Amino acid sequence: MSSNSSYAMRLRSGAPVVVGTQHERVLSPTVETTKDPCMITFEMEKERALMSCGHAITPCALFQFMTNELRLGRRQMRCPFIIDDNNLQPCNKVWDYTEIKAKACLTREETAEMIQKFQMNISKFEKMRERNIRNAKARHKLADENN
Ligand SMILES: [Zn+2]
Repeated sequence: MSSNSSYAMRLRSGAPVVVGTQHERVLSPTVETTKDPCMITFEMEKERALMSCGHAITPCALFQFMTNELRLGRRQMRCPFIIDDNNLQPCNKVWDYTEIKAKACLTREETAEMIQKFQMNISKFEKMRERNIRNAKARHKLADENN
């Protein structure tokens, strides 16, 4: 009953289930926060989660970053914090689903969608890799036959 009415509300507002700003992202008290500015927005007022690699991010920035990374076809999330300004070397530590779920304050639906999209990106990559290997083998065979 209650899930039906919230679904109807979403339909009325016209907002897709996952877009990101329709619910406020408030960190659970169990998530460790930090005084460092957000690595993406440089936000200093809203709460910043302390990621496992030691870098700071707001739940909204993490959600936006995740959405973008998924769109770019990434198979995992890596910390974009620049640790060395001279050669623009990023931290690059992998963040797992559990950490992203907690620190981007994902709903159950958003979590399911995130995992599904990462898995789609992984399977797309695997298919592309297999095709490349097949093509390379075919080229190799052709080269052998021509010799
Ligand atoms: Zn980091």
